[in-house]
Amino acid sequence: MFAGGDEYGIDLSVDGAAVERLLSVHPSDVAVADRLTFARNVFIPLTTACRYTCTYCTYYDVPGEASLLSPEEVREQCRVGADAGCTEALFTFGDEPDDRYTALHETLAEWGFDSIHEYLYRACEIALEEGLLPHSNPGDLTEAGFADLREVNASMGVMLETTADVDAHAGGRRKTPGQRLNTIRAAGRQGVPFTTGILVGIGEDWRDRAESLLAIRDLHERHGHVQEVIVQNVVPNERSDFPKPDLDTMRRVVAMARAALPEEVSVQVPPNLSPAADLVDCGIDDLGGVSPVTDDYINPAYEWPDHRELEAVADAGGVPLRERLPTYARYLPDELRPAGVESAPEPAGRDEWVPAAVRERIAADDVHGRRLRAVARGDGPLAVRGD
Ligand code: SF4
Repeated sequence: MFAGGDEYGIDLSVDGAAVERLLSVHPSDVAVADRLTFARNVFIPLTTACRYTCTYCTYYDVPGEASLLSPEEVREQCRVGADAGCTEALFTFGDEPDDRYTALHETLAEWGFDSIHEYLYRACEIALEEGLLPHSNPGDLTEAGFADLREVNASMGVMLETTADVDAHAGGRRKTPGQRLNTIRAAGRQGVPFTTGILVGIGEDWRDRAESLLAIRDLHERHGHVQEVIVQNVVPNERSDFPKPDLDTMRRVVAMARAALPEEVSVQVPPNLSPAADLVDCGIDDLGGVSPVTDDYINPAYEWPDHRELEAVADAGGVPLRERLPTYARYLPDELRPAGVESAPEPAGRDEWVPAAVRERIAADDVHGRRLRAVARGDGPLAVRGD
């Protein structure tokens, strides 16, 4: 059982033989993908408040210093992103700000919102109005939270990071693997196309990495909702001195991810943090969200590659580069799915993976709808100004 699992009724158990098999995987055991995808996004750090203080994290700000973007700032960021050809509004959070963040809660109340999640709903509506598809990463959520927010999101995500109970999550308020697994399960039960991943180098060992990947696989096999798994290496920063894992470590763990996960689940590395060109032959097929207009606010010292650098990564693997929407093609409705892509099985208790507001945004007869449908076709990077 994983730490915190009892509290959330997590009934996952990882098979020891499967762990051993995964531990024996090497890069030469996995097939090279036939394409490399990415999504063009605008990164919107809605708030830097977070109830936790993970030791490797530079994203959160303490009470009194945390930022909160106004509705006008959200709209302006979305306009800039849509103008630059982005398809995705990536809303990032810390975890739900607790009651130490009095100023933030007072501001939200002045604006007419009872909670940060209620405000996130409005921010997603703004993104849709401005022609972008919201992908929210709001930390841990309950099923009720997903039931609300799924109505305005194309897809959502949270990093599992690890099933190990590591000191990097230490502190008075400590997030647990049980809590994260509960969030991933809640997303599945609510039929939300979902992104998760593991963080490599925060004190976990090889067995923990294997168990984390198998836990994600188990949840995907139950609910069919995991669209991609990020294999992200930790990087040194002003708050931590965790060393960046070496290339051999990353090659092995990426290959383990490819071997552990079903074929339909993408394996992604972030190209501003990882040596992506040296990992293409280990089974990656996606480079995640890359922004032409905003920083990676979670790792601000690490710049996004531009379009030509992404092409160079694809060339290193001898595969084509393709742009995608934040929602993977198999979750899209029939009329938007490219030929040859099979539909994901219907989500439990829902008619569609993609909610009506998002389907209408994509189908709209305007410049944004045309851009989104062009990317949904999946036949190449969209040519936009500045490329
Ligand atoms: S990693 Fe996430 S949960 Fe941890 S402190 Fe940073 S924002 Fe909060």
